[in-house]
Amino acid sequence: MIPGAILVKVESATICGTDVHQWRGDYSSFLRLPIIQGHEIAGQVIAIGKGREQDTVGNRLAEGDRISWTYAFCNNCYYCRVAREPTLCERGRMYGWSLSEEFPHLMGGYSEYAYVLPECGVIKIPDAVPSSLAAASSCSLRTVVHGLERIGGIATQETVVVQGAGPVGLWSTVMAAEAGAGQVITIGAPAARLELASEWGATKTIDLTQVSETDRLAMVMELTHGRGADVVIEAAGVPAALPEAIGLVRRGGRILVMGLAANASPVTIAAGVIATKHLRVTGIVSAYFPHYHRALLFLKSNLHKYPFHKLISNTYSLDHITEAIESMASMRELKPLVVPNG
Ligand SMILES: [Zn+2]
Ligand SMILES: [Zn+2]
Repeated sequence: MIPGAILVKVESATICGTDVHQWRGDYSSFLRLPIIQGHEIAGQVIAIGKGREQDTVGNRLAEGDRISWTYAFCNNCYYCRVAREPTLCERGRMYGWSLSEEFPHLMGGYSEYAYVLPECGVIKIPDAVPSSLAAASSCSLRTVVHGLERIGGIATQETVVVQGAGPVGLWSTVMAAEAGAGQVITIGAPAARLELASEWGATKTIDLTQVSETDRLAMVMELTHGRGADVVIEAAGVPAALPEAIGLVRRGGRILVMGLAANASPVTIAAGVIATKHLRVTGIVSAYFPHYHRALLFLKSNLHKYPFHKLISNTYSLDHITEAIESMASMRELKPLVVPNG
């Protein structure tokens, strides 16, 4: 073991929409192969390199502890040190994205073991939080924690529209509700996901397969005295969501873009509206240590208040990983769970 590294036995890894994009070849212009996929991981500490006696917030670390960890940001580039945007790190090494031919090889969750690099922030998973949920929240929830931080949080009684009812949309819904939003309107499909959004704090859901874009706008206007939402969160991953968000948000409102992936096709927007409506449009991808930490604390604090376990659908062994990804790709499942050592 190199100093500061940790060898982990993977307990749970969950499938992300990003895995589907990688698997389909959507990122073939920049993704180098071969890789071990999987970036939503919770594991048990097997061996600890010198100097890692504690996790990043000071909890004592021992073999057998369950941990979650961040990507390995270099902490030594312009983006890490000057811009203070580690997720834009120029030399970051990301789990589920790194060449498996290169040391330390075990850089993905769909594997029996994973290697935590010394640069990774490490957080002990609270006892009350199951590994499956720690994995399932590690990508989508931490991203929402980061996104809400970037837009200055949600003020008491604000109206928030969430576009999308996948994991990012659902976490956005419950975090907005917990932040004190007066109304959380979740737009998405299918119906089962919208039901879950209601259980996770949505005050109103709109099924986009049943309600036209014109009618969706009319409904949001009716719920906001004709002004529009204070905040619109794009968690849909569909380019058309962005022009719709510009219509749904009130003058002076905030738009948070988190769902659109690198391969999103161009859309036409009424660019002048950004100035004339005084809009603040913020985009983020992924997160860094404080967001992982807060995401786990959020889960722990709200574990008995919301049925978070309903996010996780079926459980798969490594042998059935393709089935799990196919199931995610077809939207049959919300968050398939992979248990490599099951
Ligand atoms: Zn860096
Ligand atoms: Zn992800």
